[in-house]
Amino acid sequence: MPPKTHSEALPIRIRGVSKTYGPVCALQRMDLDIRAGEFLTLLGPSGSGKTTLLMILAGFIRPDCGSVCFGEREVILEPPHRRGVGMVFQNYALFPHMDVAANVAYPLKLRRVAAEERRHRVHEALAMVQLSGMEGRRIDELSGGQKQRVALARAIVFAPRILLMDEPLSALDKQLREQMQLELRQLHERLGQTTVYVTHDQREALTMSDRVAVINEGQLMQLDSPQHIYDRPLNSFIADFIGESVLLPVQVQDAQVRRGETVIAVDGPPPADGAYYLLLRPERLRILDPAAIEARRQEGHNIFSGTAGPSTYQGDSILLQVELDDATTIRVRHEIDQRRAEGETIHLCLARDHTALVPAE
Ligand code: ADP
Ligand code: MG
Repeated sequence: MPPKTHSEALPIRIRGVSKTYGPVCALQRMDLDIRAGEFLTLLGPSGSGKTTLLMILAGFIRPDCGSVCFGEREVILEPPHRRGVGMVFQNYALFPHMDVAANVAYPLKLRRVAAEERRHRVHEALAMVQLSGMEGRRIDELSGGQKQRVALARAIVFAPRILLMDEPLSALDKQLREQMQLELRQLHERLGQTTVYVTHDQREALTMSDRVAVINEGQLMQLDSPQHIYDRPLNSFIADFIGESVLLPVQVQDAQVRRGETVIAVDGPPPADGAYYLLLRPERLRILDPAAIEARRQEGHNIFSGTAGPSTYQGDSILLQVELDDATTIRVRHEIDQRRAEGETIHLCLARDHTALVPAE
Protein backbone atom coordinates (compact mmCIF):
# COMPACT_ATOMS: atom_id res chain seq x y z
CA MET A 1 0.00 0.00 0.00
CA PRO A 2 1.21 3.53 -0.75
CA PRO A 3 2.09 5.81 2.16
CA LYS A 4 -0.82 7.94 3.34
CA THR A 5 0.66 11.38 3.74
CA HIS A 6 -2.69 13.18 3.93
CA SER A 7 -5.41 11.07 5.47
CA GLU A 8 -6.82 7.58 5.41
CA ALA A 9 -8.39 6.53 2.13
CA LEU A 10 -12.07 5.56 1.97
CA PRO A 11 -13.84 2.84 -0.01
CA ILE A 12 -16.87 3.83 -2.11
CA ARG A 13 -19.93 1.61 -2.35
CA ILE A 14 -22.45 2.32 -5.10
CA ARG A 15 -25.72 0.38 -5.04
CA GLY A 16 -28.65 0.47 -7.44
CA VAL A 17 -27.91 3.97 -8.70
CA SER A 18 -30.09 5.07 -11.64
CA LYS A 19 -30.39 8.39 -13.41
CA THR A 20 -32.69 9.26 -16.29
CA TYR A 21 -32.94 12.48 -18.27
CA GLY A 22 -36.40 12.41 -19.80
CA PRO A 23 -36.37 9.38 -22.08
CA VAL A 24 -32.57 8.90 -21.75
CA CYS A 25 -31.41 6.38 -19.19
CA ALA A 26 -27.90 7.65 -18.31
CA LEU A 27 -27.31 5.07 -15.55
CA GLN A 28 -29.18 1.82 -15.05
CA ARG A 29 -29.10 0.39 -11.54
CA MET A 30 -25.35 0.71 -11.22
CA ASP A 31 -23.58 -1.35 -8.55
CA LEU A 32 -19.88 -0.69 -8.08
CA ASP A 33 -17.40 -1.18 -5.24
CA ILE A 34 -14.30 0.99 -5.28
CA ARG A 35 -11.55 -0.04 -2.88
CA ALA A 36 -9.91 2.29 -0.39
CA GLY A 37 -6.82 3.84 -1.96
CA GLU A 38 -7.20 2.38 -5.42
CA PHE A 39 -6.95 4.16 -8.76
CA LEU A 40 -10.10 3.11 -10.55
CA THR A 41 -10.96 4.26 -14.06
CA LEU A 42 -14.43 4.50 -15.55
CA LEU A 43 -13.88 3.70 -19.21
CA GLY A 44 -16.57 3.87 -21.85
CA PRO A 45 -17.57 5.54 -25.09
CA SER A 46 -19.01 9.03 -25.20
CA GLY A 47 -22.51 9.13 -23.72
CA SER A 48 -22.10 5.94 -21.67
CA GLY A 49 -22.80 7.67 -18.34
CA LYS A 50 -19.29 8.24 -16.95
CA THR A 51 -19.70 11.93 -16.16
CA THR A 52 -23.14 11.32 -14.69
CA LEU A 53 -21.71 8.74 -12.28
CA LEU A 54 -18.80 10.99 -11.30
CA MET A 55 -21.16 13.93 -10.69
CA ILE A 56 -23.31 11.71 -8.50
CA LEU A 57 -20.23 10.83 -6.45
CA ALA A 58 -19.31 14.51 -6.20
CA GLY A 59 -22.87 15.45 -5.22
CA PHE A 60 -23.63 17.72 -8.19
CA ILE A 61 -26.29 15.32 -9.52
CA ARG A 62 -28.91 13.59 -7.39
CA PRO A 63 -29.70 10.08 -8.74
CA ASP A 64 -33.32 8.91 -9.14
CA CYS A 65 -32.65 6.06 -6.74
CA GLY A 66 -29.84 4.11 -5.11
CA SER A 67 -27.19 4.55 -2.46
CA VAL A 68 -23.64 5.89 -2.37
CA CYS A 69 -21.49 5.27 0.72
CA PHE A 70 -18.03 6.69 1.45
CA GLY A 71 -16.79 4.18 3.99
CA GLU A 72 -19.74 3.66 6.34
CA ARG A 73 -21.28 7.03 5.55
CA GLU A 74 -24.31 7.35 3.24
CA VAL A 75 -23.64 10.57 1.29
CA ILE A 76 -26.55 10.69 -1.15
CA LEU A 77 -28.21 13.59 0.70
CA GLU A 78 -24.96 15.47 1.44
CA PRO A 79 -24.18 18.60 -0.60
CA PRO A 80 -20.91 18.60 -2.56
CA HIS A 81 -18.94 20.76 -0.08
CA ARG A 82 -19.64 18.33 2.77
CA ARG A 83 -18.45 15.26 0.92
CA GLY A 84 -14.73 15.98 1.15
CA VAL A 85 -13.96 15.07 -2.44
CA GLY A 86 -11.47 16.81 -4.70
CA MET A 87 -12.57 17.22 -8.29
CA VAL A 88 -10.72 17.92 -11.53
CA PHE A 89 -12.70 18.73 -14.67
CA GLN A 90 -11.83 18.42 -18.33
CA ASN A 91 -11.95 22.17 -18.95
CA TYR A 92 -9.93 23.13 -15.81
CA ALA A 93 -12.77 25.30 -14.40
CA LEU A 94 -10.26 27.74 -12.90
CA PHE A 95 -11.11 31.30 -11.84
CA PRO A 96 -9.51 33.39 -14.60
CA HIS A 97 -9.48 36.64 -12.59
CA MET A 98 -7.51 35.11 -9.68
CA ASP A 99 -3.83 34.20 -9.66
CA VAL A 100 -2.53 30.66 -9.19
CA ALA A 101 -2.25 30.90 -5.40
CA ALA A 102 -5.79 32.27 -5.00
CA ASN A 103 -7.19 29.50 -7.20
CA VAL A 104 -5.44 26.77 -5.23
CA ALA A 105 -6.31 28.39 -1.88
CA TYR A 106 -10.01 28.62 -2.73
CA PRO A 107 -11.14 25.31 -1.15
CA LEU A 108 -9.18 26.22 2.01
CA LYS A 109 -10.89 29.59 2.19
CA LEU A 110 -14.27 27.89 1.89
CA ARG A 111 -13.22 25.72 4.80
CA ARG A 112 -12.09 28.78 6.80
CA VAL A 113 -8.47 27.72 7.05
CA ALA A 114 -6.33 30.54 8.51
CA ALA A 115 -4.21 32.62 6.11
CA GLU A 116 -0.81 31.39 7.33
CA GLU A 117 -1.86 27.74 7.10
CA ARG A 118 -3.37 28.42 3.66
CA ARG A 119 -0.10 29.81 2.35
CA HIS A 120 1.78 26.81 3.63
CA ARG A 121 -0.64 24.29 2.11
CA VAL A 122 -0.79 26.08 -1.25
CA HIS A 123 2.99 26.01 -1.33
CA GLU A 124 2.96 22.26 -0.65
CA ALA A 125 0.25 21.51 -3.20
CA LEU A 126 2.05 23.49 -5.91
CA ALA A 127 5.25 21.60 -5.15
CA MET A 128 3.36 18.31 -5.60
CA VAL A 129 2.27 19.28 -9.09
CA GLN A 130 5.67 20.75 -9.96
CA LEU A 131 4.56 24.38 -10.04
CA SER A 132 6.71 25.68 -7.19
CA GLY A 133 7.17 29.44 -7.32
CA MET A 134 4.19 30.02 -9.65
CA GLU A 135 1.93 31.44 -6.91
CA GLY A 136 1.67 34.90 -8.44
CA ARG A 137 1.09 33.88 -12.08
CA ARG A 138 -2.15 34.79 -13.80
CA ILE A 139 -4.23 31.91 -15.14
CA ASP A 140 -4.22 33.25 -18.70
CA GLU A 141 -0.40 33.25 -18.67
CA LEU A 142 -0.34 29.47 -18.24
CA SER A 143 -0.13 26.67 -20.80
CA GLY A 144 -2.79 23.95 -20.92
CA GLY A 145 -0.62 21.55 -18.96
CA GLN A 146 0.10 24.17 -16.29
CA LYS A 147 -3.59 25.02 -15.97
CA GLN A 148 -4.42 21.39 -15.44
CA ARG A 149 -1.70 21.19 -12.77
CA VAL A 150 -3.26 24.19 -11.00
CA ALA A 151 -6.66 22.48 -11.15
CA LEU A 152 -5.07 19.37 -9.69
CA ALA A 153 -3.35 21.33 -6.92
CA ARG A 154 -6.69 22.92 -6.07
CA ALA A 155 -8.30 19.48 -5.91
CA ILE A 156 -5.72 18.00 -3.53
CA VAL A 157 -4.92 21.06 -1.37
CA PHE A 158 -7.48 20.24 1.31
CA ALA A 159 -6.31 16.61 1.53
CA PRO A 160 -9.54 15.03 0.27
CA ARG A 161 -9.93 11.35 0.97
CA ILE A 162 -11.47 10.88 -2.46
CA LEU A 163 -10.24 12.40 -5.72
CA LEU A 164 -12.48 12.50 -8.81
CA MET A 165 -11.17 13.36 -12.27
CA ASP A 166 -13.26 13.72 -15.42
CA GLU A 167 -11.16 13.41 -18.59
CA PRO A 168 -8.58 15.80 -17.10
CA LEU A 169 -6.01 15.30 -19.87
CA SER A 170 -8.19 15.24 -22.96
CA ALA A 171 -7.41 18.86 -23.89
CA LEU A 172 -3.64 18.24 -23.91
CA ASP A 173 -1.53 17.07 -26.83
CA LYS A 174 -0.28 13.50 -26.88
CA GLN A 175 3.20 14.02 -25.46
CA LEU A 176 2.05 16.17 -22.56
CA ARG A 177 -0.87 13.85 -21.94
CA GLU A 178 1.47 10.88 -21.56
CA GLN A 179 3.76 12.81 -19.24
CA MET A 180 0.82 13.93 -17.11
CA GLN A 181 -0.48 10.35 -16.97
CA LEU A 182 2.77 9.35 -15.30
CA GLU A 183 2.69 12.35 -12.97
CA LEU A 184 -0.91 11.69 -11.91
CA ARG A 185 -0.07 8.09 -11.23
CA GLN A 186 3.01 9.07 -9.17
CA LEU A 187 0.99 11.60 -7.22
CA HIS A 188 -1.53 8.88 -6.46
CA GLU A 189 1.25 6.60 -5.18
CA ARG A 190 2.37 9.37 -2.85
CA LEU A 191 -1.03 10.56 -1.59
CA GLY A 192 -2.92 7.28 -1.81
CA GLN A 193 -6.47 8.68 -1.90
CA THR A 194 -9.23 6.68 -3.47
CA THR A 195 -9.20 7.98 -7.03
CA VAL A 196 -11.96 7.68 -9.61
CA TYR A 197 -10.75 8.70 -13.04
CA VAL A 198 -12.88 9.04 -16.15
CA THR A 199 -11.63 8.57 -19.68
CA HIS A 200 -12.87 7.33 -23.04
CA ASP A 201 -9.26 6.54 -24.00
CA GLN A 202 -8.64 2.83 -23.48
CA ARG A 203 -4.87 3.13 -23.56
CA GLU A 204 -4.95 5.79 -20.85
CA ALA A 205 -7.20 3.57 -18.74
CA LEU A 206 -4.95 0.53 -19.12
CA THR A 207 -1.80 2.55 -18.38
CA MET A 208 -2.93 4.34 -15.24
CA SER A 209 -5.37 2.18 -13.34
CA ASP A 210 -5.31 -0.43 -10.62
CA ARG A 211 -8.70 -1.52 -11.93
CA VAL A 212 -10.88 -0.50 -14.85
CA ALA A 213 -14.68 -0.36 -14.85
CA VAL A 214 -15.91 -0.62 -18.43
CA ILE A 215 -19.23 1.16 -18.85
CA ASN A 216 -21.60 1.08 -21.78
CA GLU A 217 -25.11 2.52 -22.02
CA GLY A 218 -25.23 3.26 -18.31
CA GLN A 219 -24.31 -0.26 -17.28
CA LEU A 220 -21.18 -1.80 -15.81
CA MET A 221 -19.82 -4.33 -18.29
CA GLN A 222 -16.67 -5.49 -16.52
CA LEU A 223 -14.65 -4.50 -13.46
CA ASP A 224 -11.16 -5.93 -13.52
CA SER A 225 -7.42 -5.33 -13.66
CA PRO A 226 -6.16 -3.75 -16.90
CA GLN A 227 -4.57 -7.05 -17.90
CA HIS A 228 -7.77 -9.04 -17.43
CA ILE A 229 -9.83 -6.44 -19.25
CA TYR A 230 -7.44 -6.70 -22.17
CA ASP A 231 -6.76 -10.45 -22.20
CA ARG A 232 -10.05 -11.77 -20.84
CA PRO A 233 -12.85 -9.43 -21.95
CA LEU A 234 -16.26 -10.68 -20.86
CA ASN A 235 -18.14 -9.77 -24.02
CA SER A 236 -17.68 -8.70 -27.61
CA PHE A 237 -18.31 -5.02 -26.83
CA ILE A 238 -15.30 -4.92 -24.50
CA ALA A 239 -13.17 -7.04 -26.82
CA ASP A 240 -13.93 -4.64 -29.62
CA PHE A 241 -13.68 -1.38 -27.64
CA ILE A 242 -10.34 -2.18 -26.04
CA GLY A 243 -7.29 -2.78 -28.18
CA GLU A 244 -7.38 -4.01 -31.75
CA SER A 245 -9.25 -7.18 -32.38
CA VAL A 246 -10.79 -9.49 -34.91
CA LEU A 247 -13.56 -11.73 -33.60
CA LEU A 248 -13.56 -15.12 -35.29
CA PRO A 249 -16.83 -17.09 -34.98
CA VAL A 250 -16.37 -20.52 -33.35
CA GLN A 251 -18.69 -23.16 -31.89
CA VAL A 252 -18.35 -24.99 -28.58
CA GLN A 253 -19.83 -28.45 -28.54
CA ASP A 254 -19.12 -31.43 -26.27
CA ALA A 255 -16.27 -29.54 -24.58
CA GLN A 256 -14.57 -28.86 -27.90
CA VAL A 257 -14.02 -25.52 -29.56
CA ARG A 258 -14.29 -25.71 -33.32
CA ARG A 259 -13.99 -23.40 -36.24
CA GLY A 260 -15.57 -25.45 -39.04
CA GLU A 261 -13.70 -28.74 -38.96
CA THR A 262 -10.70 -27.35 -37.12
CA VAL A 263 -10.38 -27.84 -33.37
CA ILE A 264 -9.16 -24.73 -31.55
CA ALA A 265 -6.91 -25.27 -28.53
CA VAL A 266 -7.97 -22.97 -25.70
CA ASP A 267 -6.59 -22.05 -22.32
CA GLY A 268 -8.48 -23.90 -19.58
CA PRO A 269 -11.76 -25.77 -19.87
CA PRO A 270 -14.07 -24.63 -22.70
CA PRO A 271 -17.28 -22.80 -21.73
CA ALA A 272 -20.83 -24.16 -22.12
CA ASP A 273 -21.98 -25.26 -25.56
CA GLY A 274 -22.94 -22.46 -27.90
CA ALA A 275 -21.72 -19.83 -30.33
CA TYR A 276 -18.63 -17.78 -29.38
CA TYR A 277 -16.00 -15.55 -30.86
CA LEU A 278 -12.31 -16.27 -30.62
CA LEU A 279 -10.50 -13.02 -29.86
CA LEU A 280 -7.56 -12.42 -32.19
CA ARG A 281 -5.29 -9.51 -31.32
CA PRO A 282 -2.77 -8.57 -34.05
CA GLU A 283 0.17 -8.54 -31.62
CA ARG A 284 -0.67 -11.96 -30.16
CA LEU A 285 -0.29 -13.71 -33.51
CA ARG A 286 3.12 -14.82 -34.72
CA ILE A 287 4.18 -15.47 -38.30
CA LEU A 288 5.67 -18.97 -38.52
CA ASP A 289 8.22 -20.50 -40.84
CA PRO A 290 6.63 -23.52 -42.55
CA ALA A 291 9.32 -25.68 -40.93
CA ALA A 292 8.14 -24.67 -37.44
CA ILE A 293 4.45 -25.40 -37.94
CA GLU A 294 4.44 -29.06 -36.95
CA ALA A 295 6.36 -28.46 -33.71
CA ARG A 296 4.03 -25.67 -32.65
CA ARG A 297 1.00 -27.81 -33.45
CA GLN A 298 2.48 -30.67 -31.38
CA GLU A 299 2.85 -28.27 -28.47
CA GLY A 300 -0.89 -27.69 -28.65
CA HIS A 301 -0.96 -24.21 -30.20
CA ASN A 302 -3.26 -22.98 -32.96
CA ILE A 303 -2.17 -22.48 -36.54
CA PHE A 304 -4.05 -20.35 -39.05
CA SER A 305 -3.01 -20.30 -42.68
CA GLY A 306 -3.94 -17.80 -45.33
CA THR A 307 -2.73 -15.34 -47.92
CA ALA A 308 -0.93 -12.05 -47.28
CA GLY A 309 -3.03 -9.03 -48.21
CA PRO A 310 -2.15 -5.34 -47.98
CA SER A 311 0.10 -4.18 -45.16
CA THR A 312 0.34 -0.87 -43.33
CA TYR A 313 3.61 0.64 -42.14
CA GLN A 314 3.11 2.01 -38.62
CA GLY A 315 6.57 3.21 -37.68
CA ASP A 316 7.42 0.69 -35.00
CA SER A 317 5.72 -2.25 -36.70
CA ILE A 318 3.78 -3.43 -39.72
CA LEU A 319 0.12 -4.39 -39.65
CA LEU A 320 -0.52 -7.11 -42.21
CA GLN A 321 -3.91 -8.34 -43.37
CA VAL A 322 -4.17 -12.07 -43.88
CA GLU A 323 -7.08 -13.62 -45.70
CA LEU A 324 -7.92 -17.05 -44.33
CA ASP A 325 -9.18 -19.88 -46.53
CA ASP A 326 -12.82 -19.06 -45.79
CA ALA A 327 -12.25 -15.41 -46.84
CA THR A 328 -12.18 -14.10 -43.24
CA THR A 329 -9.64 -11.30 -42.91
CA ILE A 330 -7.50 -11.18 -39.78
CA ARG A 331 -4.61 -8.88 -38.90
CA VAL A 332 -1.15 -9.59 -37.57
CA ARG A 333 1.38 -7.10 -36.26
CA HIS A 334 4.98 -7.94 -37.04
CA GLU A 335 8.42 -6.44 -37.07
CA ILE A 336 9.61 -4.17 -39.84
CA ASP A 337 12.27 -6.57 -41.10
CA GLN A 338 9.75 -9.40 -41.59
CA ARG A 339 8.07 -7.76 -44.56
CA ARG A 340 5.83 -10.10 -46.62
CA ALA A 341 4.75 -9.76 -50.24
CA GLU A 342 1.07 -9.65 -51.10
CA GLY A 343 -0.19 -13.05 -52.21
CA GLU A 344 2.43 -14.96 -50.21
CA THR A 345 1.17 -17.87 -48.07
CA ILE A 346 1.26 -16.98 -44.38
CA HIS A 347 1.11 -19.29 -41.37
CA LEU A 348 0.16 -17.74 -38.07
CA CYS A 349 0.47 -19.15 -34.58
CA LEU A 350 -1.85 -18.26 -31.73
CA ALA A 351 -0.47 -19.72 -28.52
CA ARG A 352 -3.14 -21.53 -26.52
CA ASP A 353 -2.49 -19.32 -23.48
CA HIS A 354 -3.38 -16.29 -25.58
CA THR A 355 -6.81 -17.59 -26.53
CA ALA A 356 -9.92 -15.91 -25.18
CA LEU A 357 -13.53 -16.65 -26.07
CA VAL A 358 -16.42 -14.23 -25.76
CA PRO A 359 -20.07 -15.18 -26.16
CA ALA A 360 -21.59 -14.35 -29.55
CA GLU A 361 -24.82 -12.66 -28.49
P1 ADP B 1 -20.22 10.37 -20.76
O1 ADP B 1 -19.58 11.21 -19.71
O2 ADP B 1 -19.89 8.91 -20.66
O3 ADP B 1 -19.95 10.87 -22.15
P2 ADP B 1 -22.73 11.41 -19.73
O4 ADP B 1 -22.82 10.91 -18.34
O5 ADP B 1 -22.32 12.82 -19.92
O6 ADP B 1 -21.81 10.41 -20.59
O7 ADP B 1 -24.14 11.21 -20.44
C1 ADP B 1 -24.88 10.00 -20.40
C2 ADP B 1 -26.16 10.17 -21.19
O8 ADP B 1 -27.01 11.10 -20.54
C3 ADP B 1 -25.97 10.69 -22.60
O9 ADP B 1 -26.92 10.09 -23.43
C4 ADP B 1 -26.23 12.17 -22.45
O10 ADP B 1 -26.71 12.72 -23.66
C5 ADP B 1 -27.30 12.20 -21.38
N1 ADP B 1 -27.25 13.44 -20.56
C6 ADP B 1 -26.23 13.81 -19.75
N2 ADP B 1 -26.51 14.97 -19.12
C7 ADP B 1 -27.74 15.34 -19.55
C8 ADP B 1 -28.60 16.46 -19.26
N3 ADP B 1 -28.25 17.41 -18.41
N4 ADP B 1 -29.80 16.49 -19.90
C9 ADP B 1 -30.17 15.53 -20.76
N5 ADP B 1 -29.42 14.45 -21.07
C10 ADP B 1 -28.22 14.35 -20.48
MG1 MG C 1 -18.26 12.83 -19.91
